[in-house]
Amino acid sequence: MATSNDCLFCKIVAGEIPNDTVYETDSVLAFRDISPRAAVHVLVIPKSHEDTLAEMAADDAGSVAELFAAAGEVARIEGVDQTGYRLVSNVGSDGGQEVFHVHVHVLGGQQLGPVGPLRD
Ligand code: 5GP
Ligand code: ZN
Repeated sequence: MATSNDCLFCKIVAGEIPNDTVYETDSVLAFRDISPRAAVHVLVIPKSHEDTLAEMAADDAGSVAELFAAAGEVARIEGVDQTGYRLVSNVGSDGGQEVFHVHVHVLGGQQLGPVGPLRD
């Protein structure tokens, strides 16, 4: 399994930094965002390090499918699968990515409104 030194989420996978786990498989970990931006805000990550979703898709499309299947399972566990939710994966600088270990945000539990920011 690929790991990256000084990667925050690799440290969470390794158990070096505590997390509030919602769901886990052999290849995926889902845990609550430390700074929630919605009533439900869970991060779903591959245990194996990849910088971005785009790189992960190019390297191993099947692992991306597992990641999104896990996100759907998280939505069910959090009770938002019927009311709806948003999946977001920020890629790179303009995308607002802060942690360069692939993660999908599962956001829900409230009306989220349009995807922003909007152009003026
Ligand atoms: P990004 O901006 O890269 O798409 O999202 C990174 C997310 O990681 C942010 O929403 C931020 O709140 C979350 N985050 C940063 N550090 C930690 C941490 O130590 N623990 C948890 N659970 N979430 C974190
Ligand atoms: Zn990592």
